[in-house]
Amino acid sequence: MTAHSSPIQVVRSVVELRAVTRGWRQAGDSVAVVPTMGALHDGHLSLVAQARDACDRVIVTLFVNLTQFDRPEDLAKYPRTENRDRAVLEPAGVDLLFMPGVDEVYPPGFATTVSVSGLTSGMCGDFRPGHFDGMATIVAKLFLMTGADRAFFGEKDWQQLQIVRRLAADLNIPIEVIGCPTVREADGLAMSSRNARLSPPDRTAAPALYAALTHAAQRLRGGEDPAPVLEAARAEILAGGFARVEYLDLRHPQTLTPLDRLDGPARLLAAAWLGPVRLIDNVAV
Ligand code: AMP
Repeated sequence: MTAHSSPIQVVRSVVELRAVTRGWRQAGDSVAVVPTMGALHDGHLSLVAQARDACDRVIVTLFVNLTQFDRPEDLAKYPRTENRDRAVLEPAGVDLLFMPGVDEVYPPGFATTVSVSGLTSGMCGDFRPGHFDGMATIVAKLFLMTGADRAFFGEKDWQQLQIVRRLAADLNIPIEVIGCPTVREADGLAMSSRNARLSPPDRTAAPALYAALTHAAQRLRGGEDPAPVLEAARAEILAGGFARVEYLDLRHPQTLTPLDRLDGPARLLAAAWLGPVRLIDNVAV
């Protein structure tokens, strides 16, 4: 499928969204959805490109989902760049931008939460209370609102990706969840909407997180014991200028079970604080 440049149809209501997708479906078109919270960067655009290649129609959703923010200041400071986001999506071949208001998504009386157990405990689940319930609820809603055939998520949020796969299977939502590789800056830093909040010195320090994960993964692949390797990776992140390592875990890639030795595929995942900004990243082992 080739990208084309035409004004994107912006839709704010579920009724209108369903009317448009009904037409597509009647024409036999397959539909992709790329859920985002805006402040779009090349990581988001890579999801859009993969959606474009896989489906006839592409919906990007842009909704800063307040219920998944565990810290009010993170929500207040979350970058909002709606006009710029629309402009970068125009040449990307997106058919529809779904930008609902808060009342459209959470009307008065809203009382349902989608809560995935197991995969949500540990790592971000332990440090961001309520985050994954908020995320799972909005993702389930967006899957049902769009009725898409395929959904595209970034591997940067590895735990989120496993949770989304689980919820789609458990709720029998007929959608294929596709994970897309993490897009990085030239120095290795994973692209993130939150990177814009890094001070210039913190931005210089930020690649230390990915560097430490990469070094540790190399040592683990070489057969070294996980415990000292993980300890060294923590030290490397702190020496790189981070104030605090929230977690640094070796886990099974799909079940997310903690691993204390390497006897198959694994994922190394970390969250760490650089000034007021929390960064996450992960690599395959
Ligand atoms: P967000 O807007 O940050 O909630 O992210 C929306 C989607 O983009 C999620 O599926 C993220 O995993 C994905 N994403 C964010 N950053 C990147 C990145 N650097 N590379 C690939 N996907 C990303």
